[in-house]
Amino acid sequence: MSDPSFALNDDQQQIQQWVHDFARDVIRPAAQEWDEREEFPWPVVQEAAKIGLYGWDFMAQAMMGDPTGLTMPVALEEMFWGDAGIGLSIMGSALAAAGIAASGTSDQVMEWVPQCYGDADDVKLGAFCSSEPDAGSDVAAMRTRAVYDEATDEWVLNGTKTWITNGGIADIHVVVAVVDPELGSKGHASFVVPPGIKGLSQGQKFQKHGIRASHTAEVILEDVRIPGACLLGGKEKLDERLARVREGKPGNSQAAMQTFEATRPAVGAQAIGIARAAYEYSLDYAKERVQFGRPIIQNQSIAFMLADMATEIDAARMLVWRAAWLGKQRQFKHAEGSMAKLKAGRVAVWTTERAMQILGGYGYVTDYPVERFHRDAKIYDIFEGTEQIQQLVIARAISGLRIE
Ligand SMILES: Cc1cc2nc3c(=O)[nH]c(=O)nc-3n(C[C@H](O)[C@H](O)[C@H](O)COP(=O)(O)OP(=O)(O)OC[C@H]3O[C@@H](n4cnc5c(N)ncnc54)[C@H](O)[C@@H]3O)c2cc1C
Repeated sequence: MSDPSFALNDDQQQIQQWVHDFARDVIRPAAQEWDEREEFPWPVVQEAAKIGLYGWDFMAQAMMGDPTGLTMPVALEEMFWGDAGIGLSIMGSALAAAGIAASGTSDQVMEWVPQCYGDADDVKLGAFCSSEPDAGSDVAAMRTRAVYDEATDEWVLNGTKTWITNGGIADIHVVVAVVDPELGSKGHASFVVPPGIKGLSQGQKFQKHGIRASHTAEVILEDVRIPGACLLGGKEKLDERLARVREGKPGNSQAAMQTFEATRPAVGAQAIGIARAAYEYSLDYAKERVQFGRPIIQNQSIAFMLADMATEIDAARMLVWRAAWLGKQRQFKHAEGSMAKLKAGRVAVWTTERAMQILGGYGYVTDYPVERFHRDAKIYDIFEGTEQIQQLVIARAISGLRIE
């Protein structure tokens, strides 16, 4: 495919409608309850698995069976339009799957990725564990250690991971750890911790500002022994890579960063889903709410806010679709994935805040969904690379210089 077109094909339009219907009929009605309960929304994820929306087949179809790259952002926008906390509960395992796909051999992908999802009768979860208490944006500061025990052909993992989506409740934990502390971020490798392995436990479960249905917790690793085959990519490849780095030859990019780069347009699409939900809600509200004898939308100050919201959302979506398309063609030039995520996060936060303004007092109370949209939106400036880290990546890409 050489010619970019943003016209959705028949399959994509069908998927868009299918996800939209599920978001409208199943996700939205459950959103407030799971936000208040702050628990993983198992029944909703099970419903998603029953229709094939939660599962490896859908991910494979949306990602690999789509030469345009647009299917995934289109589907995610609809899902997160339904609710971001539940959306993230459905999508959390994809981070683990992406981590396995980024570093694993094809045999490892076939073995472990389906286990991140299970099936409709027995839903499983995956978690991707990179962040640590003292290593968030600064991935190179990671301290979790993986040491090879040659006698038993096992890796032994020790450390603490934090902010982990599905952490501790997942069946498959993909863990990024230090194999050679002298090599900084180039001395990292990714491992699969299979279900039921001794020594992996959940630490603190976090109570959050937004996306409360999504489970976020610390993951503690204490002498976790995993088979040698759980090193993603295999030992031979790791040894070759480390040897190249030690000789000063260019190595592969950091394991964790590969995962983040591949997922940025998809994360942007999630933010746009929240922004669109807030925009649509406040547009309807502004047409109905009467003050001073006329609907509030007949005041330019309100109508212009909505005009700006519509424009910003479309602009962000175009950046996300462009990035998704470029990513699929492997044609990134100037960190377009980071541009898309940066813009979409900002648009989500700004749009949801404006929507609260349009609803006035009704925007500030939990009887209406707009305050939840606003709480949910803020995470998109923070996770998967903060606003400032996206700026850093873009600044380096456009300048070709080492900006600190
Ligand atoms: C709800 C939630 C879910 C998450 N899920 C996962 C997950 O599943 N797996 C996982 O591994 N991680 C996950 N994370 C972690 C997330 O990716 C990190 O929070 C994020 O990378 C930022 O790291 P930090 O919180 O340590 O902030 P810090 O890195 O300490 O940043 C603090 C502030 O300093 C700024 N800053 C830092 N360095 C620079 C710099 N060089 N230049 C300019 N500004 C800078 C940042 O932009 C930010 O504003 C999750 C986080 C949350 C909150």
